[in-house]
Amino acid sequence: MSERAELVERAEKLDAADELAGVRSRFVLDDVVYLDGNSLGALPVGVPGRVEDVVRRQWGELRIRSWEESGWWTAPERIGDRIAPLVGAAAGQIVVGDSTSVNVFKALVGAVRLAGEGRDEILVDATTFPTDGYIAESAARLTGCTLRAVAPAEVPSALSSRTAAVLLNHVDYRSGRLHDLPSLTSAIHAVGAVAVWDLCHSAGALPVGLDEHGVDLAVGCTYKYLNGGPGSPAYLYVRRSLQDRFDSPLPGWNSHAEPFGMRSDYAPAPGALRGRVGTPDILSMLALEAALDVWDGVSIEAVRAKSLALTDFFLECVARYVGEGRVSSLTPVAHEERGSQVALRCEDAGDVMKRLISRGVVGDFRAPDVLRFGFTPLYVGFADVERAGRVLGEVLG
Ligand SMILES: *Cc1c(COP(=O)(O)O)cnc(C)c1O
Repeated sequence: MSERAELVERAEKLDAADELAGVRSRFVLDDVVYLDGNSLGALPVGVPGRVEDVVRRQWGELRIRSWEESGWWTAPERIGDRIAPLVGAAAGQIVVGDSTSVNVFKALVGAVRLAGEGRDEILVDATTFPTDGYIAESAARLTGCTLRAVAPAEVPSALSSRTAAVLLNHVDYRSGRLHDLPSLTSAIHAVGAVAVWDLCHSAGALPVGLDEHGVDLAVGCTYKYLNGGPGSPAYLYVRRSLQDRFDSPLPGWNSHAEPFGMRSDYAPAPGALRGRVGTPDILSMLALEAALDVWDGVSIEAVRAKSLALTDFFLECVARYVGEGRVSSLTPVAHEERGSQVALRCEDAGDVMKRLISRGVVGDFRAPDVLRFGFTPLYVGFADVERAGRVLGEVLG
């Protein structure tokens, strides 16, 4: 049997045994192999109708009444509770709103305030997505801390009694490396510091276990593996036992204990609500709420199992279709160190990605030399993976 026939047959068998295969019909897809769901998730079929209803009926007809009657006012905490099980959090600890960048700011300044007197250093993931690093630099200046960038693996040896807070990415956006959240969180706690995790590339792709592992604060976006749509709002997790002490650096009227009391003095609302700031972006937020319907009956463990099978199969297809030495993988082979993407270092990567896209295989390019392929188990199948590997081999052939 030819190499190609063998891989196609394997893909068919894997697709036939895939218990998530039926979930694919919950998305608007075409014949493109879409491997960019780690940047912008595909559109769930239920979203356009819901947005139409929110605009025409809730806004157009009910107008101001919708803040109550359509549940607009409570959407940030209601939708936070829908995200909670996907990241291993009990209800009442997540609010949705603002961008990830803004939530990194709230979480990191809040973390330093929680850490208390005598701690004057923030550690930040040296490989972080840039925005987290920029915000951390400003948070450090505002709180009078010094900022030190360290690779996640070096965090345990960099921790000290000076450390106030540590900001880490759960999965590296570039390499797809998964960091050890349980052990890093316990190392941070062992010196009395506060752990802040950015879940942008893990939420919706793998189990996070926020409650189980005692994470203090976490943030994440919703437009990647949670498919909330372009610019859909991010979220902030504040562990229940810290909520009474969480002192937000952005205390807007939406986080006031009595928002319609219109008082001149600020008093924070109880619970996760104190992570809110101003009027929520209702259109994006309710599009996200509709998008979360695709998770009905789907377990994050099943998503993780399929994700690893997809990335394993992709690495195998690349090894067999792509000429020796044309690409090298930045993504760890070990499952416990891999997120849901494969990053391949490749000469002329920008040009190669353009040619892949013109042939119906959509990933993305990260400067200077990385081809990035994200695998969203809810709608990517094994035949897609075989095709992506084959087309990459042809483009590089
Ligand atoms: C995608 C991503 C962001 C995006 O931040 P926004 O403010 O939502 O634009 C931030 N941090 C990480 C780690 C990301 O992967």
